[in-house]
Amino acid sequence: MKDDCLFCKIVAGEIPSDKVYEDGTCIAFNDISPQAPTHILVVPREHFDSLDTATVAQKATLGHLLLSSAEIARERGIAEDGYRVVINTNADGGQTVFHLHVHLLGGRPFVFPPG
Ligand code: AMP
Ligand code: ZN
Repeated sequence: MKDDCLFCKIVAGEIPSDKVYEDGTCIAFNDISPQAPTHILVVPREHFDSLDTATVAQKATLGHLLLSSAEIARERGIAEDGYRVVINTNADGGQTVFHLHVHLLGGRPFVFPPG
């Protein structure tokens, strides 16, 4: 756990979240400012800042986040219509919380490229 990290505090239960899934590696909760009818953050329990600083040591965790996102999408009934997973990285990528997380967005169509 990293001091003063919002998502570490949510993982630890020190800050409440609207949790939709959890297992030994990650938790998932509804985004506080949803950008789509479904907007879930899939967050590793382990702190690492971003995709930019991830190493081979996080390889299994990164794969787990993607497969968990796909499973949650199926459970929420958005998989067949389609959805988007996003990992914002560093300033130009729009990252604001520096504890790596996957955005799972669905329930509406998306354009590409995103803004
Ligand atoms: P990013 O900008 O990619 O770092 O994503 C951070 C996301 O965290 C944003 O979509 C925020 O709306 C979301 N967020 C910030 N604080 C909270 C919170 N307390 N609970 C749930 N989501 C949050
Ligand atoms: Zn953290």
